[in-house]
Amino acid sequence: MIKVPVFYYHSIGNLEPETLAVDRFREHLNLIKELGFHTITFSELRQIPSSDQKRYVVLTFDDGLLDNFDNALPVLQDYGAKATFFVIPGFDDITRWVNPKTRQWSDEKRSDFSIPFPSMQPHHRRELIRSGMEIGCHSMTHPKLNKIPRTALHSEIVDSKKQLEDELDVEISSFCYPKGRYDRRVLECVEQAGYTGACTTMPGFYRPDGKPLECGRFLIESCAQFNKILRWSSTVHHPSELLFDAIRPFLRIKNRCL
Ligand SMILES: [Zn+2]
Repeated sequence: MIKVPVFYYHSIGNLEPETLAVDRFREHLNLIKELGFHTITFSELRQIPSSDQKRYVVLTFDDGLLDNFDNALPVLQDYGAKATFFVIPGFDDITRWVNPKTRQWSDEKRSDFSIPFPSMQPHHRRELIRSGMEIGCHSMTHPKLNKIPRTALHSEIVDSKKQLEDELDVEISSFCYPKGRYDRRVLECVEQAGYTGACTTMPGFYRPDGKPLECGRFLIESCAQFNKILRWSSTVHHPSELLFDAIRPFLRIKNRCL
């Protein structure tokens, strides 16, 4: 394993514009197969010895949307693929809404927010585990973690983990920062909670010698881009990485990840 691309998705197969069509998602799985990559979960990624020469890719889904279960899971199963679903246990009763004109999201129904995105429920999460998928934690209520007081971090990072572990009877070892926001306090809390890996929204490949609590990911929806990233991951030092390295400090400032 030289380096591994980790991709992230949100909605699959809901109404446009804030979703990826099922056929497009299927094209991604086709490419993975054609190029000889193996899908593994984010926690499995951290267990693979660095001498392993197979080509791996990790698919992750943020926000625990019900369409992940309804639309992405069947495609993954068709291809015998695995994925990690970062869920928000405090959102079980919340339907999120999208304004199709502005593409904004809202956690409550407002005028002009007409596309519903209901959340997965515990029985969906249990079914994902039974299907060989990983459930990771995406906080309790999806706040910008670098903006909330230290006392609230415990509920968002520690209590959410405990709730999912009690519900699913598995260890939850992967975390994902809501909206990509974190700072030193958040990192400390995630580490102390016992998570061994965490995903950001910054571009970059996973490397065994990288920081496991600040794993980069790619948000790619076009097939051509997806193809490129997969191919780049097979080159030891692809020039694109210089670009990712250059972008990251700016994203850190933009996201207040200081
Ligand atoms: Zn999110």
